[in-house]
Amino acid sequence: MSRLVMKFGGTSVADLDRIRNAAGKVAREVANGHEVIVVVSAMSGKTNELVALVEATSPMFDAREYDAVVSSGENVTAGLMALTLQEMDIPARSWQGWQVPLKTTSAHSAARITEIPTDNLDAKFAEGMKVAVIAGFQGIAEDGRITTLGRGGSDTTAVAFAAAFDAERCDIYTDVDGVYTTDPRITDKARRLDRISYEEMLELASLGAKVLQTRSVELAMRYKVRLRVLSSFEDVTENSGTLVCSEEEIMESNVVSGVAYSRDEAKMTLVSVADRPGIAAAIFTPLAEAGVNVDMIVQNISEEGRTDMTFSCPVGQVARAEAALNAAQERGEINFRGLIADRDVCKVSVVGIGMRSHAGVAAQMFQALAAEGVNIKVITTSEIKVSVLVDRKYMELAVQALHDTFGLENAA
Ligand code: ASP
Ligand code: MG
Repeated sequence: MSRLVMKFGGTSVADLDRIRNAAGKVAREVANGHEVIVVVSAMSGKTNELVALVEATSPMFDAREYDAVVSSGENVTAGLMALTLQEMDIPARSWQGWQVPLKTTSAHSAARITEIPTDNLDAKFAEGMKVAVIAGFQGIAEDGRITTLGRGGSDTTAVAFAAAFDAERCDIYTDVDGVYTTDPRITDKARRLDRISYEEMLELASLGAKVLQTRSVELAMRYKVRLRVLSSFEDVTENSGTLVCSEEEIMESNVVSGVAYSRDEAKMTLVSVADRPGIAAAIFTPLAEAGVNVDMIVQNISEEGRTDMTFSCPVGQVARAEAALNAAQERGEINFRGLIADRDVCKVSVVGIGMRSHAGVAAQMFQALAAEGVNIKVITTSEIKVSVLVDRKYMELAVQALHDTFGLENAA
């Protein structure tokens, strides 16, 4: 019998009506002859509420107890979903992570899945159970403690189950009807993509398109799990949503598939540091130790034997970065003349696997920005992506200009 994984995010299980609506979609797949593994998130807002309770109780909280508390939201929706299905005469049973068991590392609040043994669920399916409802986001470490997989982790739970149970597909039901060429709030020319490759989705996910947890896409790519992103508030047809799949399944790829942005970036420049072997290590090691997520890096020769080093990081980490660099300066590990923080920048990126075989994408991007008078502050590229830092006030304009120049309103 074919297996399907269906994941419902927080807004899709926000109240009993919505849980019933989601259960209706599950019932339809059961009627189509599938055995279904349903993965649920907590009701929307619930996890934030639980995190706030933990923080209000204990500012320097014990990560094991954090996980014990914040994982509980999913237990509620899993049980309610199983009950709702039973009310519809569908044999269903709920499972918390530890019951499966979904085994993880012991990195509390950011645990990684190590194994999902299939025998427990398989035995139940063999006995006639049609739907296993799994509490997403949670697992169990080797020492028996409950763990969580990081915010948005139910996506990763769903993909991991699809891989472990060799599911035909993993359907991610959410509050948008698919993956768009860009954020529809920024331009009404944004289009839903029928298909997108894992590689592109990975770039878009990590660049700030928040449809899927990045790790879930990595996992889907590694295990070739076909992922479909679709709305739980619309009727489902064969062509609903966006299929995230391997390149081979995409006939003719667009040169550029999407424009992504990340609003809250900062650009930091160390002015005039000694240009010597080891200088980059001396700068970026203390930043890494301070937990600063450095993204783009540019090194310029300024004058004889001196260089300027520029990097970007989330705007919320500027103070931490400054403290780490000033401390390194005081320890004599580095010697810079100035440290400039520009807190008003954003990152805009174009992504597409077609770039591998098409020259001129970067040039076209820069021309489009120039035509709008948008100054580019930093540029980085990868095989399938070009990113620029620009002033934040130009963010919408830059996204719209790039969406236009690459003809994305005609994308499919
Ligand atoms: N409930 C968790 C969160 O809000 C996990 C998830 O929904 O994916 O982060
Ligand atoms: Mg989510």
